[in-house]
Amino acid sequence: MKKNIALIPGDGIGVEIMVQARNVLERISTLYNHHFYFDELLVGGCAIDAYGDCLPKRSLESCKNSDSILLGAVGGPKWDNQPHHNRPEHALLTLRKELGLFANIRPAKLFDELKDSSPLKNSILQNGVDFIVVRELVGGLYFGEHKIEEVDGERIGFDVMSYSVSQIEAIARVAFDIASLRRKNVVSVDKANVLSSSKLWREIVEYVSRDYKDIALTHMYVDNAAMQICRNPSQFDVILTENMFGDILSDESSVIAGTLGVLPSASLSNIKDLCKESNHKFGMYEPIHGSAPDIAMQDKANPIGMILSAAMMLELSFGLKNEALAIQNAVYNTLSQGYRTGDIMSEGKKLIGCKEMGEIICKNLV
Ligand code: NAD
Repeated sequence: MKKNIALIPGDGIGVEIMVQARNVLERISTLYNHHFYFDELLVGGCAIDAYGDCLPKRSLESCKNSDSILLGAVGGPKWDNQPHHNRPEHALLTLRKELGLFANIRPAKLFDELKDSSPLKNSILQNGVDFIVVRELVGGLYFGEHKIEEVDGERIGFDVMSYSVSQIEAIARVAFDIASLRRKNVVSVDKANVLSSSKLWREIVEYVSRDYKDIALTHMYVDNAAMQICRNPSQFDVILTENMFGDILSDESSVIAGTLGVLPSASLSNIKDLCKESNHKFGMYEPIHGSAPDIAMQDKANPIGMILSAAMMLELSFGLKNEALAIQNAVYNTLSQGYRTGDIMSEGKKLIGCKEMGEIICKNLV
């Protein structure tokens, strides 16, 4: 198989972990006789430094011409004083919008080997944790109008939260489709007791659910969902929610795994031109963490979330299930052999850096 992959290392640890993911993909291409062509692009703070622009035109065009995108992380204190439209994080919002990346899929899975890293008690974890947060990504509060106005001598900040029927329907279908491949259970999270956008959300999710008779649907308010994820995470299979609630709940869910460093994510597109073949889903794949400026360039980053993002890309975008499984097994085996980066280190395990973790995972790839 021949695929063009846009690589966006970004800033901070993004640069270090991307090297390891690329090595893993190169090893896969040798083992399975594929041809992956990489185009490394500047986006985020590094692009501001080079061109004064957080998302240069060439980077955006190359992303559009690729078969899929792998992203490290962008941002850092150096660029915190950039104007809103040129902040590194703004480049991500623009990429999501321009590429139609409307569905964010974040697994929250507890690796048996990392149970001790989880902040939750063993009694809560005994039934395992394996759920997916399906988050709407291009609507809601983050894409509404933002302004600060002076009213009667006092400054007031406004952020508009809105959802259309078609936006809700599209993301609900993704959640039900994913649930139909899993344990057939969707919990839709909203704040329908207060927000109009949530009332419409609930109505449309109910409407879509009629097409998925074998899937159990329940609704939960976001404050209760935040609590239930800590009290009884095993109850969840697929959580469907809007942009900001999903941002917060998926970060909370990731803590269950013990570290931000091991979890991948996918953002899938609904733009038909980008999904060139009928079985090809265009997506952007990235670990769930940020650029971790506190440990950047010290060889301390955990590259597993980035490497598992590459595996997710092979499976969801290119349909290469065996190759994805090979990467996942290599990661599990590396953890079983006792290798740990600092964020998941525990007594009796072997502390290694980002580079060595990537190398051992590559070695374990068969
Ligand atoms: P962060 O995820 O970068 O870091 C939070 C904590 O987790 C830090 O202590 C960090 O050292 C640790 N951590 C994160 N990833 C790790 C890994 N792979 N291995 C080991 N430890 C890891 O969140 P933050 O500190 O709030 O944000 C830092 C910067 O990243 C900010 O500029 C923020 O805007 C940006 N950010 C970018 C993205 C993205 O590119 N998608 C997402 C979130 C935050």
